[in-house]
Amino acid sequence: MAVIPVALAGRDYDVVIEEGLLERLTQAAAPFLKGYGPQRPVPFVADTNTHRLYSRQVAKALGTEGLEADWFVVEPGEDAKTWGMLERLCDWLLALGVTRKDHVFALGGGVVGDLVGFACSITKRGVGFVQLPTTLLAQVDSSVGGKTAINTRAGKNLIGAFHQPALVLIDPLVLTTLPDREMRAGFAEVLKYGLLGDAAFFAWLEANGPAVLAREPAALEHAIATSIAMKAQIVAADERETQDLRALLNLGHTFGHALEAETGFSDRLLHGEAVALGMVLAAKYSARRGEISAEDAARAETAIAAAGLPARISDLGLTCDGAALVDHMRHDKKAEGTTLPFLLLRALGEAYVARDVDLADIAAFLDGELAG
Ligand code: ADP
Ligand code: ZN
Repeated sequence: MAVIPVALAGRDYDVVIEEGLLERLTQAAAPFLKGYGPQRPVPFVADTNTHRLYSRQVAKALGTEGLEADWFVVEPGEDAKTWGMLERLCDWLLALGVTRKDHVFALGGGVVGDLVGFACSITKRGVGFVQLPTTLLAQVDSSVGGKTAINTRAGKNLIGAFHQPALVLIDPLVLTTLPDREMRAGFAEVLKYGLLGDAAFFAWLEANGPAVLAREPAALEHAIATSIAMKAQIVAADERETQDLRALLNLGHTFGHALEAETGFSDRLLHGEAVALGMVLAAKYSARRGEISAEDAARAETAIAAAGLPARISDLGLTCDGAALVDHMRHDKKAEGTTLPFLLLRALGEAYVARDVDLADIAAFLDGELAG
């Protein structure tokens, strides 16, 4: 078991990682279940997959304390993160009579967590919520740090709020049902932590990646705990990304978002897969600038390919050119006027924010990469 505190003045919370936590939900989340009782069910939000797979386990756990869950279930996928669904969820919470002392439970991947967190941030100007992340990606990244959002016509995650959870309970056992492709996509964000700030962890992942992907308990818990520890430290130091620190978590994401946009944010390329490609591009571009060696860039690419993640954009079958990808980047949330901060590498295990990157040079670099 690992308990990682996220130190935020007045809003500290713990991230607990332990096999079987879902079964022991009533003990693990006891302080946040206080207001509920036989006449007052606990609000749970899930998608149809996590509801089908885990609602019985939740019911059983709650039953030991005479509690019941009331479920709000959404269809899986990004389409749940809409204005319409936000309205329905907020109305549901209000109809249940949630108060600012209550906590809503989010059982699912990043989609459920983002939607619930945002709904809780605006309902009665802020009710509490507990994250029960069920994808590797949500466990190591989106469930911690308080970024919540929905998607709109103008883009993904453009409407949202910072709203920290009261508790994050990570049960690695739920990953046994996660499709392998989703597992690999989450693993891309794990590799990200190694590449951005911990060379020793990156080397450990090179050796132990297969064990993590096979859900071997010790390796999996170490990978999750190390990732969360780094995220917790970064979030505590720069909660709202006002310094460059939290921005380091965006390694691979500027290139990645452009690729996601070009592939229509579809199943063709999952977020984690786009981040994997984005990290290879960031490493290669850093090598092009002479900041890391070509060998180090190749090492990053090899680690990503070895995890079964896409590592070469020439394999995507895109018909666009580099300029089109750069055009997508200009619409990035992180764009500052006409320039864009790029996350590059000074070493494997040391990312930094470069503000002197010429977008025309990025386009030329991408033309080369697209050609293979
Ligand atoms: P992410 O966490 O990567 O943002 P989503 O919330 O979109 O992703 O979840 C990805 C997919 O995985 C969805 O179809 C979701 O229903 C499914 N899913 C989530 N958790 C599990 C699980 N533990 N077992 C099986 N499928 C899951
Ligand atoms: Zn990401």
